[in-house]
Amino acid sequence: MKYSNFSQFGREVSKLGFGLMRLPKKYEDKEEIDRDEAFRLVDLAMKSGVNYYDTAYFYHGGDSEQFVKEALSRYPRESFMLATKLPGTYMRDNNLHTDELFNGQLEKCGVDYFDFYLLHAVNRDIMKTFEADKSYEYLSDQKKAGKIRHLGFSYHGDYEFFVELIDKYKWDFVQLQINYYDWDAQNAKAYYKALEERGIPCIVMEPVRGGALHSLNDEARKVFEELGDNSPASYALRYVAQLPNVLTVLSGMSTYEQVEDNLKTFDDLQPLNEDEAKAVEKANILFRSNFAIPCTDCKYCVEACPAGVDIPACFKAYNEYNKTRDTADFTKAYSIIPEEKRADLCINCKACESRCPQQIKIPDKLRRVKELLE
Ligand code: SF4
Ligand code: SF4
Repeated sequence: MKYSNFSQFGREVSKLGFGLMRLPKKYEDKEEIDRDEAFRLVDLAMKSGVNYYDTAYFYHGGDSEQFVKEALSRYPRESFMLATKLPGTYMRDNNLHTDELFNGQLEKCGVDYFDFYLLHAVNRDIMKTFEADKSYEYLSDQKKAGKIRHLGFSYHGDYEFFVELIDKYKWDFVQLQINYYDWDAQNAKAYYKALEERGIPCIVMEPVRGGALHSLNDEARKVFEELGDNSPASYALRYVAQLPNVLTVLSGMSTYEQVEDNLKTFDDLQPLNEDEAKAVEKANILFRSNFAIPCTDCKYCVEACPAGVDIPACFKAYNEYNKTRDTADFTKAYSIIPEEKRADLCINCKACESRCPQQIKIPDKLRRVKELLE
């Protein structure tokens, strides 16, 4: 395992971080984690030197923090670093406060302190909730009291506000969505550079864009196949891991094979050589032309939907269709969505839109899904 060595963290951090938001599930249509299988994944990662574990209040409908307690309490506390996040939308919608959520999270995760604690999915709007509740001030006090080692935030908003935010408060780190698709498409490079200029280390989320840069489309996948037998995901991970200001790269691993594949990449981590960098560029162009709806399957929108639409599953079906333009591919992916979770149930209330970190116009895109059914 390769490690980062930023002096301010006082210890080495594995370059591969385990994102605990896409763990194996017990039932396809429920969020409950399959404990036995997920333990196997965590045990393999621990044994192989992964020491950074990232959860959040919402992951797996709240089951991820509970799982953390069961999985990681089997290991000495100092052998792993744990990150979790304060859910701003949930605070706002349920009129809750930072102290009650934070203390509940310590208890749920079964720890006395968090190594990394983040304000979750910050943008202009959510920051108003955090500022009204003086979340930063409360969490800074918890840091002084030793209950948080490092304080930061994850971000999904506009660039101007981002710069305002990193200059307004003192942050130990910031978590950003960076991958080779978003580097230009969502101008991730500008956000990364703003952190680098200020000496604020960056944690990378969505390096494989919810798996999309692994599954790709046929033409893009062929570009990597010509280079050898490394997985498309390995190139996406190396693309971000080679950035010098990156502390760790979070991968939301779902299967034992994915953990093995990611470990292979990070055990002998190398920057992309010239041919590989060119291949990434070419694959990105081929992929971009086929990537219709940039959903990362984060599921933040799902809780907000009064109609119970499985929005990411509908978008996944649409993206499958868009790769080949063959409606059979759409029908195959769409037929596994239960009828009570399908796009035609959308009532266009727009409650989901403000939840989407990718700023997808969800009801409009669901309309496109519905059109395919007609
Ligand atoms: S706009 Fe449609 S998908 Fe979005 S929350 Fe409302 S009903 Fe659900
Ligand atoms: S539509 Fe947006 S919020 Fe919903 S799963 Fe996709 S990226 Fe996440």
